[in-house]
Amino acid sequence: MPFVASGDPTSLTAHLADAFAEAYGVPPAVVARAPGRVNLIGEHTDYNAGLVLPVALPHATYAAVAPRDDGLLRVGSLEESDPWEGSLDAAAGAAGWAAYAAGVLWALREDGLALPGMDVLVHGTVPLGAGLSSSAALECSVAVAACAAARVVLDRERVVDACIRAETEVAGAPTGGMDQTVSMLAGPGTALLIDFDDHTSRPVPLALDDAGLALLVTDTRVSHALVDGGYGERRADCEAAAAALGVPSLRHASRATVEALDDDRVRRRARHVVTEVERVREVVAALEAGDWTAVGARFAESHVSMRDDFEISCPELDLVVGTAVEAGALGARMTGGGFGGSALSLVPLARLDAVVRAVDTAFAAAGFRAPQHLRAEPSGRADLVD
Ligand code: ADP
Ligand code: MG
Repeated sequence: MPFVASGDPTSLTAHLADAFAEAYGVPPAVVARAPGRVNLIGEHTDYNAGLVLPVALPHATYAAVAPRDDGLLRVGSLEESDPWEGSLDAAAGAAGWAAYAAGVLWALREDGLALPGMDVLVHGTVPLGAGLSSSAALECSVAVAACAAARVVLDRERVVDACIRAETEVAGAPTGGMDQTVSMLAGPGTALLIDFDDHTSRPVPLALDDAGLALLVTDTRVSHALVDGGYGERRADCEAAAAALGVPSLRHASRATVEALDDDRVRRRARHVVTEVERVREVVAALEAGDWTAVGARFAESHVSMRDDFEISCPELDLVVGTAVEAGALGARMTGGGFGGSALSLVPLARLDAVVRAVDTAFAAAGFRAPQHLRAEPSGRADLVD
């Protein structure tokens, strides 16, 4: 099967350690690993104080770090050609991919952590820019490794906040915090229900194997460019809807009240958010009851809502969803911020080959670039690698 491999942690770590020694002339002091994620359901709900239900992927980013005693920071990636170096004090000025890595060290220091200068090298298997949160995997892996190198006790909530600040303030890509939270808190074999109203989370069982099911992620390889306007415009519409309804956030609106909004576009945006939060609740209940048919049905409704009301889908995502369901998926939906990125299908194992083949054939027939597939086997949170 042509799945993107998550890689074996031992060999990935060994490869990274070799590259580190070659780049910096010393072995790494610590290596940390942080997973990418796929969101089961709950799209564009995080910044509306709503619910999300992401799953950590087996695909992860590994960060190797060695402290330095001269206050210099050097960051490199085996996935990107341009390393960055500067003083720790200049970390907030890092640009390009390095903004995510240097930015998190800046944010940890802003929060009062005494960090030494350090050499950092990253390498991973989360596809970049595919809506699977390679950015949070990068931030969290660097943060966990840096805390260990600095010999400070890992405070996971604090790391989440620092990673959000790095992405928002240094990389300039506003983020609601789902990606960083799941990368730091996920448990194997479960999804993580995160409530952005009271900032609590709890694991929800995801016994795919017992049910003979797989979560198939299909990366359309269409760039989603969240830094561009689409995300900000949706956020602004949601804020306008909440203001018009006199509620602090759309979490506190109902299906009935949003229908009273005058502006057609703002009403549809708000309707997506309110119904999507309901669907998250319904999927959690269905998972707890082992009702996979209901999970698939909510996936289908979620996709229609994002396509028609929130308008964040695209022809490639619609094609994956339609084709996967025709070929035997219980349900499928676009996942992540939208405008490209990945789709998620819930597929009986016996139909997995057929679904992958059908999607590939449909893409070729439509003249689209060949998609990439990977299996989302629910994995664990960021940690040090022994
Ligand atoms: P996503 O998080 O869905 O993959 P983003 O646009 O949020 O998409 O983040 C992708 C960006 O994160 C990349 O373009 C790159 O700048 C950075 N990035 C992620 N992983 C790595 C890595 N292993 N090495 C270098 N840069 C990375
Ligand atoms: Mg991201």
